[in-house]
Amino acid sequence: MQDDNLKDRQNKRAFHLPSQSLGGFIMEARIHSIETYGTVDGPGIRYVLFMQGCLLRCQFCHNPDTWKMGDGEKFTVEEIVADVKDYLPFFQSSDGGVTVSGGEPLLHANFLAKLFKELKKLGVHTALDTSGGCFSRSPSFMESLDELLSYTDLVLLDLKQIDPAKHKTLTGVSNEHIFDFAHYLEEKKIPVWVRHVLIPGVTDIDEDLHRLGDFIQTLSNVEKVDVLPYHELSVYKWQELGLDYPLEGVQPPTEDRVKNAEKILAL
Ligand code: SF4
Repeated sequence: MQDDNLKDRQNKRAFHLPSQSLGGFIMEARIHSIETYGTVDGPGIRYVLFMQGCLLRCQFCHNPDTWKMGDGEKFTVEEIVADVKDYLPFFQSSDGGVTVSGGEPLLHANFLAKLFKELKKLGVHTALDTSGGCFSRSPSFMESLDELLSYTDLVLLDLKQIDPAKHKTLTGVSNEHIFDFAHYLEEKKIPVWVRHVLIPGVTDIDEDLHRLGDFIQTLSNVEKVDVLPYHELSVYKWQELGLDYPLEGVQPPTEDRVKNAEKILAL
């Protein structure tokens, strides 16, 4: 009886963890949504998977409905691959591919390693859009990550704030492990596009931008830096979830400030 209870508990626990291999045969993960014609998350036309679950709580988050691990719908690798196949002609005509965003894709590293492995067999370009927020050098995470990176063509890396204390206010966590992740991607020679959300008074501060620009200059694998002007288009999602929106009243940056940031962060 005790053994049965223990088995039940273990099964339930395993079932709620993201990206589990169940009995070694079925690999599935919780996915928030799928966009089949993305044009802003990597080169060309992208099939974009938004994974469920994130450890950060960014004050400007556009997808707070991806935060909870247990939400979303479960899909297997095989189901996603079958769906992607329908869109292959679009990718091939535009040099596009598949981007996995979120939420935080790296929470699903095992699942994505298997998915990307299958996609590479089809010749699909693969990209991860990540904050690196769950990066750690623990052996088990590194094993999954290395496998995933071996099938990853591009990482869109969100660097949100270089100052650790300001980063913690902005996202709920400090940033040392995220900048360590950036170093690791260089070590692994993975091409990176840096993305930086420009928020007046929060990240749009010349001193912080210069420090971030100096950091980016130390990385030999960064191909591009995108400045993303903050906007309020997702505030309604916070309201629908009954959450207070922390950046209430903050306006998008002016064109001049966006140009200023682009100049400072230019490669
Ligand atoms: S890392 Fe991305 S998904 Fe997670 S809270 Fe920040 S903006 Fe939202």
